[in-house]
Amino acid sequence: MKAYILDLDGVIHRGSNPIDGAVDAVNRLRDRAKVLFLTNNSTMSRRVVAARLEAAGIRCGGGDVITAGYAAAVYIRKRYGASTVYPIGEAGLIEELELQGHAISEDSEFVVVGLDRDLSYEKLRIGLRNIADGAKFIATNTDPVLPTEDGFVPGAGAIVCALETASGQSPLVIGKPNQPIMDIVLDHLGLDVSECVVVGDRLDTDILAGIRCGMKTVLVLTGVETRESLERSDIKPDCVVGSITELLVALEGGARITGKP
Ligand SMILES: [Mg+2]
Repeated sequence: MKAYILDLDGVIHRGSNPIDGAVDAVNRLRDRAKVLFLTNNSTMSRRVVAARLEAAGIRCGGGDVITAGYAAAVYIRKRYGASTVYPIGEAGLIEELELQGHAISEDSEFVVVGLDRDLSYEKLRIGLRNIADGAKFIATNTDPVLPTEDGFVPGAGAIVCALETASGQSPLVIGKPNQPIMDIVLDHLGLDVSECVVVGDRLDTDILAGIRCGMKTVLVLTGVETRESLERSDIKPDCVVGSITELLVALEGGARITGKP
């Protein structure tokens, strides 16, 4: 395989704690193939995500990271050119929108919604007014919750739902398991789907994204899913490993990612 597309939370770290052995495993993987870090998180820019990975000891640059916020900004630029955007989101989303040439405005052509831990009624009001006036409604992702050290907290999906209910309109969703972010990943790698593997801890986002675009998929059990949840799900990865370290040991032992488990 030429490229490994790695989810972050639940694969490399859990909240802000690195998963045992993951830093070393990712660096060893980088010696064998291209590695791209792919996250639905839009609160941090690619630059900040890369700096955090580097600080943890993973060799990484901003160009090795794709966030759903970056993907939303690129999606809009490629289809519509530099635009006006009203973001409901955090600094990482705003940074990516501006880097793609978009102007932040309360009177906008697009409303882009990501996780916003400073969400207010006023932001929802402005978002709704723009959508009612014809702005296109885009969601970075619709993850219902995110895992943290203190348990689950509401995800971007919960905020998207508020605006969806108010506006009566459904957003275009950029992040995993949807195609827009995967198109940007493939563009970025310049590879065929047959040369790429998705590695993630969630069946309904990471693994489904890989299956939908025809890539091989590897589920790690260091995050959301368990053997039991895998058993109950219709979404089946090509391969299941306990951790990313286990994947590396298997690859270094000559294993290949081929069939269904
Ligand atoms: Mg994850």
